[in-house]
Amino acid sequence: MTPTFSVCVYCGSKPGADPDFATTARAVGHWIGARGGQLVYGGGKNGLMGIVAAATLEAGGRVVGVIPKALVEKEWANNDCSELHIVDTMHERKRLMAEHADAFLALPGGIGTFEEFFEVWTWRQLGYHDKPVGLLNQNGYYDLLVTFLQSTVTQGFMGDWQMGLIRIGDQAEDLLRELVQAAGLAPESHLDQI
Ligand code: AMP
Repeated sequence: MTPTFSVCVYCGSKPGADPDFATTARAVGHWIGARGGQLVYGGGKNGLMGIVAAATLEAGGRVVGVIPKALVEKEWANNDCSELHIVDTMHERKRLMAEHADAFLALPGGIGTFEEFFEVWTWRQLGYHDKPVGLLNQNGYYDLLVTFLQSTVTQGFMGDWQMGLIRIGDQAEDLLRELVQAAGLAPESHLDQI
């Protein structure tokens, strides 16, 4: 069955110190799966990445994993995925993930998550795509980053319009709904039925 929407989730390959992060990763996967959606992610079983994927599948959603061959063992490639793409390079991974998604959401994570989030944000600013990009600032995890980003506007290196290209929220389900709607998919009434 064709998924109703497809969300690319970037998140930690570790679970993080706050147990709420795992709880929310599970809720994100459940939200996507229960609405007949598709998760696109890095294809591993580690950390928050593995949790989002398992929850999406458990709730009946599709999961597309994309992993470079060099990371198949390190990140425990997830054979439970509905589609698992093993690609040659990290660049290919990111291109394929972006192509398969209607919207992007970054949850708490580390350097890989930051890199992926910043890349789709810059691609949006360059007009390479026009898909919504969200940052989940759960429990203030990204407070310092958001403050820093706002300071770059004051410092004259970024414009308000660039900040306006990302949606920042602290409630996962609200942010997911906003992103899917901004992508022009699944009207509110449908999303709220579940
Ligand atoms: P992390 O947030 O560091 O736990 O990484 C989350 C995911 O981002 C992992 O699947 C990494 O392989 C991936 N990732 C993507 N781009 C990079 C990069 N340039 N450096 C490190 N990890 C990356």
